[in-house]
Amino acid sequence: MKTIKLKPKKEESLLRHHPWVFSGAIANLPEGLEEGDMVKVESSDGTVLGYGHYQIGSIAVRILQFGSETPAPDFFRRRLESAFRLRSTLGLIREDNNCFRLVHGEGDFLPGLVIDIYGDTAVMQAHSPGMHFERMKIAQALTELPEARIRNVYYKSETTLPYKAKLDPQNDYLVGRYDGNIAIENGLRFNIDWLRGQKTGFFVDQRENRALLEKYAEGRKVLNMFCYTGGFSVYAMRGGALKVDSVDSSAKAASLTDANIDLNFPDDPRHHTHAVDAFKFLGEMDKDEYDLIILDPPAFAKHRSALKNGLLGYRKLNAKAFEKIKSGGILFTFSCSQVVTREMFRLAVFTAAAQSGRKVRILHQLTQPADHPVDISHPEGEYLKGLVLYVE
Ligand code: SAH
Repeated sequence: MKTIKLKPKKEESLLRHHPWVFSGAIANLPEGLEEGDMVKVESSDGTVLGYGHYQIGSIAVRILQFGSETPAPDFFRRRLESAFRLRSTLGLIREDNNCFRLVHGEGDFLPGLVIDIYGDTAVMQAHSPGMHFERMKIAQALTELPEARIRNVYYKSETTLPYKAKLDPQNDYLVGRYDGNIAIENGLRFNIDWLRGQKTGFFVDQRENRALLEKYAEGRKVLNMFCYTGGFSVYAMRGGALKVDSVDSSAKAASLTDANIDLNFPDDPRHHTHAVDAFKFLGEMDKDEYDLIILDPPAFAKHRSALKNGLLGYRKLNAKAFEKIKSGGILFTFSCSQVVTREMFRLAVFTAAAQSGRKVRILHQLTQPADHPVDISHPEGEYLKGLVLYVE
């Protein structure tokens, strides 16, 4: 195994167990080092700080194990077992709930790896070349997890691996194959299209926020913007909404929403889907038409460079909702942009509220659920922010 030596005084963040080594902290790169290699990282005085995957780019090493001990041959099995134990503790593995995130990258001490579980299928995404090379080992360990009963492992990294690494990953089953794809979340059924859908096919990270929405839905007229698979809509239907409109600019998303409504509430006239742009819909809809609105857009700022425009996007979107929502209405508004902090998001929403002249109170401050844990040494792992607002 090759060794990467750091420049003097560059070991501090690693000693606090932050798992990223930035390229600027490295004194020398050993000869023959290849992207995806497991490397040993040493401080300038030769102390072994940990072991991780090397990659070309600003984050040069993602540490998998801190300290001087080399990762054991059953490293992945142990980490996956520990991740599974946590999900059992969280009470997420039940007859009426069989989808959850098993591995949330750094939050499960497995930087570069994401695994979502849908029944007996695991959908795995590698974000680093190192995890790509380890994929068979990980898939094997998944199927051997006691009690997890994972029979199929679908590998879906065509869009998550660095394009420049030229790894040419093929989205495909590494173990088994399963083409029926219904998962159960809090007793509701969802078609999960991991082959063609966004991310791993479903946004499991909104599970608890959807459950909260259900409690507010009774007797309300609900507008679910950026609905994708219609998660919030299905919960609103079960919560007793008078009507539910789901909006997404993608026709594919609109049909996924229709399918999920049909699966749970066949022929229910309360629901309608609209394949149109969110801003257009909000601009054209009547005032006071809805008294429960969900805004869960894609990340408006994917990188720091897009922060200013992203914040402007959140402000404009929320301003439109404040302008149109009925008095006594409730707004669920989210940002999943990692670079937008909780404070920035709140300020953008506050500015929108001030602009609209509406009186707004915060009822709940939401975040990602416990199966998307944040390693306290790695605050960058926190990304989902939400506010539930009462609009007079
Ligand atoms: N709320 C969803 C996840 C939303 S993902 C859930 O709970 O699962 C973001 C969605 O926004 C995607 O489906 C994407 O097609 C849609 N989208 C992106 N830009 C849009 C726009 N301008 N208008 C409407 N929908 C848009």
